[in-house]
Amino acid sequence: MSSNKFSNRTNNWKKNDTVSIRITDVGQNGEGIGRTEDGYTIFTKNTVPGDLAEIRIVKTQKTYGFGRLMRLLEASKDRTEPFCPIAGQCGGCQLQHMTYEAELQLKENKVRNDLERIGGIVTERRKAGAGSEDHSQRTESVRMEPIVGMEVNRRYRNKAQFPIGEDEQGNPVAGFYAGHSHRIIACEDCQLGVEENREILRTVLDWMKEQKVAAYNEETGKGIVRHVLIRKGFATGEIIVCLIINARELPHKDALVGKLSALKGIVGITISSNTKKTNVIMNAPVRTVWGRGEIEDILRSEAFGVQVRYSISPASFYQVNPVQTEKIYQKVLELADLSGTETVMDLYCGIGTISLFLAAKAAKVIGVEIVPEAIEDAKKNAAMNGIKNAEFYVGKAEEVVPALYAKGAKADVVVVDPPRKGCDQKLLDTILQMDPGRLVYVSCDPATLARDLKFLTANGYELKYVQPYDQFCHTVHVETCCLLEKTVVG
Ligand code: SAH
Repeated sequence: MSSNKFSNRTNNWKKNDTVSIRITDVGQNGEGIGRTEDGYTIFTKNTVPGDLAEIRIVKTQKTYGFGRLMRLLEASKDRTEPFCPIAGQCGGCQLQHMTYEAELQLKENKVRNDLERIGGIVTERRKAGAGSEDHSQRTESVRMEPIVGMEVNRRYRNKAQFPIGEDEQGNPVAGFYAGHSHRIIACEDCQLGVEENREILRTVLDWMKEQKVAAYNEETGKGIVRHVLIRKGFATGEIIVCLIINARELPHKDALVGKLSALKGIVGITISSNTKKTNVIMNAPVRTVWGRGEIEDILRSEAFGVQVRYSISPASFYQVNPVQTEKIYQKVLELADLSGTETVMDLYCGIGTISLFLAAKAAKVIGVEIVPEAIEDAKKNAAMNGIKNAEFYVGKAEEVVPALYAKGAKADVVVVDPPRKGCDQKLLDTILQMDPGRLVYVSCDPATLARDLKFLTANGYELKYVQPYDQFCHTVHVETCCLLEKTVVG
């Protein structure tokens, strides 16, 4: 194979050409990446680094193209059989054809490479089980722990939402939209979701058939049942179901309630009307038709003796993987290293999940979040847990925090957990002015994390510790928890 870099190669290839390439890398969306002998880069779904693949080119751009896997000439040692029959079509899991070990390595490498390439930060891999780090090669490296994976990496999601449609015979089906279409691929047992989902969906689909309640049709805008949303509290076993319907009221309600309420774990049945032709799943308040309007869940850290109960409605934001979330929150507590005298800011706080964890160990916690309903939940959850030292503010962190600072607020420790685009520059500037001793950064995007770390480490903070987590097994996403400390001068 040629050693040419692909960047300035123009394209000699056209649609429907067939070529054999060795897959060497993985792209943003989990596609395998390989290069032709003349240096043209091709992205191909369902391929794994190490594969020798015969592909057909389906689309070309100037410097790269897209291929379809036609035949595997040599299978990578990292390849495995997807456990889900519709893995290739659904698109929810991009990495199922890779062994879990290879997936974890891929994610760890992604964090390491982004930190180095974008952040200019060199990490030292601490070998699992090794007592001391080897600093012989690089002196200015940061300690990075091996990624924390899951022992059981299926059925980890506590929330699922299934679109409802009809098959060719007119029977109601639940599943997933086939990419870029209105067609639903039937799948009542997504392996990432809880086992109870299957029976709940079956009950809803049987009720639809018996009572002749039609599935919503995205093209015509007719029919009733659009989505079924299911949430389960892993610690409590409580389950809530929400039907999103193209109607004001649920027809044949009693028949459905009678059957669903009898299932194990169900504590509430709710509906949300959505009569608009839109891709947005839920755009109206949730109404309870039976039982309760929310479930409770508990997150704990045994090491710190902290336990917080959360009340979660179908529309609330709540972390979808509670097993890994507990590990991450415990790490946040560990890195925040609180003695009980500190004021802590939890920025991008959602429903205050991290804030309430921190409150037990801090003098005061200030949470800031842009979604007003989330802040309502945060306040309710604080009251439910008898937590009195947490204050919550609605607004953009980059506006609220400078305003609080102008009024004299300060923070000894700052925790940020921003969305993928990372922290706003104005917020980072204000954090520097507030001058906290420690900053814990929880990130769902290593690239923006690296960008923000580059700025912070150039402005008086030292990156001390990096810990990636696999919170979304079989998808391309990776979560990272970092500690920064104020650089000691002198
Ligand atoms: N820490 C929470 C939520 C993290 S998700 C938890 O662990 O559950 C990121 C959160 O940032 C979301 O709740 C989102 O609504 C919020 N958000 C997005 N942009 C924001 C901004 N500019 N200012 C404050 N919050 C923002």
